Amino acid sequence: MSETGVAAVPETLGATGMTEEERRWMLPVYPHSGIEPVRGVGALLETRDGRTLIDFYGGHAVALLGYAHPRLITALDEQARTLFFQSNVVPLEVRARAAKRLVQWGPEGLTRAFFVNSGAEANENAFRLAFRHTERREGRKRRKIVALEGAFHGRTAAAAAVTWGSERWYGFPQAPFDVTFVPRGDLAALEEALVDAAALIVEPVQGQAGAYEAGESWLVAAREMTKASGTVLIFDEVQCGLGRSGQPFAAQAYGVTPDLLTTAKGLAGGFPAGAVLVSDELARGLREGDLGTTFGGGPLACALINTVIQIIEDEGLLQRVRDLSERIRTTCVTGPVTAVQGKGFLLGLRTTRPAKEIQLELIEHGILTGTSGDPHIVRLLPPLVLDAVHVDQMAAALKEIRP
Ligand code: PLP
Repeated sequence: MSETGVAAVPETLGATGMTEEERRWMLPVYPHSGIEPVRGVGALLETRDGRTLIDFYGGHAVALLGYAHPRLITALDEQARTLFFQSNVVPLEVRARAAKRLVQWGPEGLTRAFFVNSGAEANENAFRLAFRHTERREGRKRRKIVALEGAFHGRTAAAAAVTWGSERWYGFPQAPFDVTFVPRGDLAALEEALVDAAALIVEPVQGQAGAYEAGESWLVAAREMTKASGTVLIFDEVQCGLGRSGQPFAAQAYGVTPDLLTTAKGLAGGFPAGAVLVSDELARGLREGDLGTTFGGGPLACALINTVIQIIEDEGLLQRVRDLSERIRTTCVTGPVTAVQGKGFLLGLRTTRPAKEIQLELIEHGILTGTSGDPHIVRLLPPLVLDAVHVDQMAAALKEIRP
């Protein structure tokens, strides 16, 4: 504050593409892409300069049901008018209903839900559960978590510690536990790393890395190995879960059930929400106070979680994902795209030229996509309400783009 009591205007900072107001009032930590969405309906976004874009990226996979879905708006409005917030120290019917619906929709064998606010928070709590479980079982602490090269699990202390390459941006002097990274697909390295590990965390389809599937046989083997070593198996389905695989969760798509499953992103259709799904065995050892959160499981998020799952079921969106994913695979290997990888609606288009160039050229054709850690992968995370005509427009646009 200045002597007059008026806040001084801060020095203007900036990252690529920030608006003048953002440069003045916000931290310069995000480069912006140069498009400014002002409105969204279904899978379409309208920008400030009057363009309409087909959204194949969904705000990092969060806009699971696209924009302005009338049932989500109604659910939010009704819950806001009824009870805007209460914490976890009181029972809430809407929370119990969301937990039941999510557990019944998820993999058999995961029987309880714990609600949080984000993917990183879900993973932090999954690690806490894994360390507690192994300690109470064995009477001593295991100190290690195993993760995969290329993995992304979030930005908080523990989640960042198991994120590949995080030392570049982690910012903390040390990790809260030991971490061993193993190369994707290397089962011998995995078996060795699992000795005395409290948990193995895996994205069944790595998102940020560029839509890399772990593969069914690898997942089956990892399940067997973690059972043998007494290691808790965690599936991070923050990005690949919630219908994106063509099943409720990738665990069901690959027929492998972990001990813990974390999810977030589109769980409440764009409202912050995350969850940990927990096996009976891990849930049984818990005591009051073992986990906690202020906002997690709030009534607004829970009303939306209920509605999101109901909409996916009522509108047959899992089948739509399977069908349109296949349509992308068969029609979009054209122009600069040489192959498609990933699963369902978490796909990577392998490109001849840098993905960043193709992404910019696709915007010129009215299509919004993402990039990834792989410089030659354009990443697709479209809303589940995408239409066949949108895929056809993508294929036509790619055909016109120089290889
Ligand atoms: N796990 C995966 C696989 C993710 O893709 C992300 C975010 O992109 C996270 C965890 C972290 O989620 P959040 O940003 O909600 O903390």
